[in-house]
Amino acid sequence: MTDPPTARAARQLLESLERSGVTHLARPSEPQHPVPEAPEGDDGQVTPSGTGESAGGLEVLCDEVAACRLCGELAETRTQTVFGVGDPEAKILFVGEAPGADEDRLGEPFVGRAGKLLDQIIEACGLRREQIYICNILKCRPPGNRNPTPDEAGNCRKFLDGQIAAVRPEYIVCWGSVAARNLLDSTETIGRMRRKFFEYAGAKVLCTYHPSYLLRNPSAKKDVWEDMQLLFTDMGITLSAK
Ligand code: URA
Repeated sequence: MTDPPTARAARQLLESLERSGVTHLARPSEPQHPVPEAPEGDDGQVTPSGTGESAGGLEVLCDEVAACRLCGELAETRTQTVFGVGDPEAKILFVGEAPGADEDRLGEPFVGRAGKLLDQIIEACGLRREQIYICNILKCRPPGNRNPTPDEAGNCRKFLDGQIAAVRPEYIVCWGSVAARNLLDSTETIGRMRRKFFEYAGAKVLCTYHPSYLLRNPSAKKDVWEDMQLLFTDMGITLSAK
């Protein structure tokens, strides 16, 4: 029998903590979030609701993404689409900006230099990359790594919303201003959006600096670490000092 969402999330968290060597937990401060509504696409099709079928829902969505040619320029210039990777039932979902050259070549998000740094951040939090679901605002590489246009982000939105509806994460982390502004429909700077929680599709959303920004500005790593501490404290987990 399929676990109800709260039981599933609790079991998943406890298993991942146990693997990380955590034996005691503080009582979480927040109540469980309601299950996000499955958004309806432009064509009226309801995207996967994730009742134990997260992986299947994601597979269908992944095929749709691979066939998508809504953004003419991106469809012409991409090597392949870059959908998303990780645990289809993850408690935490990461959203980045768009694939870069390495991701376009390998078909997986965050596998270049920024991805390596992201992996280090994940490890520092006591988790493994496979325990998180990782995707981007855009599923195609913008030529020259330019920022996504509003039209491109709009075209790709149903896929992102479909991923969120399928995974039903309790937490979403937006890495960088493009992810944060697009997901939350905001014009704020990332500096003003970090250090607090927003809400989207039933998940608590935390915004922080993009790993590429950290590669150029290593002094901002301490800010990202503070944001990770905020996230994990909210989950009832104390991260050790870095
Ligand atoms: N930067 C992103 O935002 N996403 C990726 O997948 C890689 C780099």
